[in-house]
Amino acid sequence: MDAGLKRELEEKVYVGERLTRADGEALYASDDLAWLGRLAHHRRTEKNGDRVMFNVNRHLNLTNVCTASCAYCSFQRKPGEKAAYTMRVKQAVEKALEMKDEQLTELHIVNGLHPTLPWKYYPRVLRALKEALPDVSLKCFTATEVQWFEKISGLPADEILDELIDAGLASLTGGGAEIFDWEIRQQIVDHDCHWEDWSRIHRLAHEKGLRTPATMLYGHIEEPRHRVDHVMRLRELQDETGGFVVFIPLRYQHDFHDSADGIVRNRIQAKTTMASPAESLKTFAVSRLMLDNFDHVKCFWVMHGLSVAQLSLNFGVDDLDGSVVEYKITHDADSYGTPDTMHREDLLTLIQDAGFRPVERNTRYEVVREFDAPMSLADRRREPQQVWA
Ligand code: SF4
Repeated sequence: MDAGLKRELEEKVYVGERLTRADGEALYASDDLAWLGRLAHHRRTEKNGDRVMFNVNRHLNLTNVCTASCAYCSFQRKPGEKAAYTMRVKQAVEKALEMKDEQLTELHIVNGLHPTLPWKYYPRVLRALKEALPDVSLKCFTATEVQWFEKISGLPADEILDELIDAGLASLTGGGAEIFDWEIRQQIVDHDCHWEDWSRIHRLAHEKGLRTPATMLYGHIEEPRHRVDHVMRLRELQDETGGFVVFIPLRYQHDFHDSADGIVRNRIQAKTTMASPAESLKTFAVSRLMLDNFDHVKCFWVMHGLSVAQLSLNFGVDDLDGSVVEYKITHDADSYGTPDTMHREDLLTLIQDAGFRPVERNTRYEVVREFDAPMSLADRRREPQQVWA
């Protein structure tokens, strides 16, 4: 990058001036990863100091049966397929109760777009879960699922959300966003919830007092300009509603191994590679710099591995998700040997080893508990460091 432009971008970041679309594209064009990290770390430290937030959550997928066949998805199954499943309300509660120990504070629930389950099933599950786990926040459903509920119920999202909130919904999830740009979206998404509906449903949720996350699936067939476009749309919506709590870049994953039935469902892997760790760190950094009105940027370690998750804390990230017993949607496609279980103690060590102070939060990003700051580097050097896979 031209030295003058570099200086100009630095100045904008240090005086807190909003970056433009062209600035975002210029940042992606830079190969100076250390410089990008320094800028993003400056912005991250201004907003969050040396804190790294986490919460103790579990993921639950009520059904993997889906009418859609998104090109990147290795989770969905069609009715009658061997590995297709749908939980009865009672089973969902039993499964959630199995996760009850370890001071669980949040259940994260996303599902396929089931062709025949009635809409009423969903609030019924939420009511039963809330009754069984009254202290656990229910963060459930993508905007895509809410739009699906509109279709199967004939009700508007307004009434759908009211009923879900009445049943115990604390937040929507941030999924279904993928990449909003239509040129890319039409090649990877196989349902009709696009930017207009995704933003409509999150706007509505914010109006009703919910605070929601927003995601972006990157590292497939999109280009950096599509990532910039994606965060610009989110930034504009956040200016309007202020209801997003966090931005989560999700790294697209190949389907390395055949699933139990031998079918490889991911249809875009022949057209693309996966984002390298350097590209992931760049994406965290540019996202942090562009999204000046988002308080938090999260690294979902399941998709990045633990070493990149630690590094990401120096590239704009201040939130690690999570403490996960089961996570199916990417783990069906993961062959990194990334563990699918992390507990509170593991997370504390991971964060402190990276030099940051862990803070446990709830679904609304309110502080639940603050932990000790890490030992000084000098003290830490006196004892062997743990190596994370
Ligand atoms: S990403 Fe979601 S909507 Fe798309 S096929 Fe997979 S489960 Fe279905």
